[in-house]
Amino acid sequence: MKRSAADVREDLKTHLEFLAEAGAGFVVRREDGEAASEAPGPQAEPPSLAERPPQTAAEKEALADIDRRVRVCTLCDLHKFRTHAVPGEGNWEAELMFIGEGPGRDEDLQGRPFVGRAGQLLRRIIAAMTFREDEVYITNMVKCRPPENRVPHTEEIEACSRYLIRQIELIRPKVIVTLGKTPTDYFVPGREGMTARRGRFGSYLGIPVMPTFHPSYLVRNEGNRELKRMVWEDMQKVMALLGRK
Ligand code: URA
Ligand code: SF4
Repeated sequence: MKRSAADVREDLKTHLEFLAEAGAGFVVRREDGEAASEAPGPQAEPPSLAERPPQTAAEKEALADIDRRVRVCTLCDLHKFRTHAVPGEGNWEAELMFIGEGPGRDEDLQGRPFVGRAGQLLRRIIAAMTFREDEVYITNMVKCRPPENRVPHTEEIEACSRYLIRQIELIRPKVIVTLGKTPTDYFVPGREGMTARRGRFGSYLGIPVMPTFHPSYLVRNEGNRELKRMVWEDMQKVMALLGRK
């Protein structure tokens, strides 16, 4: 797809905005060995990326079928509260997949993931990573909005995970980013809090999984530049793995 100069400028602007918000000036220092907020202890070997066979037409059809099934799904109680289910959006051949918790109010109204305030921040982060939105895939652990945005219950996650796991198997991303505790607990279970777990690759079905803070946590702590800086540090590891640095 050919993109206009205005689009490219807009992406660059968004890219620079997030870097400024994250105080990216200091992230660069990591390159001369400075790693002040690196997780303590030995750092695991950087993971390697799996080979990806080209996606088949049948796989694309299976992904479209998941979207259709999700939109009418009644497998768990969350269907009772939804306006629209939110299967996910983006590139079915994405190298990079972002997994959030569940749709919020704006997402439920529009049937699209990450379109509210947290979503706009996520989209700025994606631009800062030099990815276009149509290059990545964005979805959630549960596809229907939990009432009052509560954390989804275990049974709801269990019921809905069949869709997400199938999406992962069909899209075969090279790297997954889990946003916040809900998807992180599912894909790289651990007992520590997000502050300890972020920034280190785990693995799911052989795919490197990078846990980081949920963008709504950053939105709720608007003035905390340190949180943004940590997210940016995590995303730089993802970029390095995908050769974007
Ligand atoms: N928060 C999420 O976890 N997902 C969305 O789609 C929007 C906000
Ligand atoms: Fe179905 Fe998932 Fe919605 Fe529950 S949350 S009704 S399992 S699509």
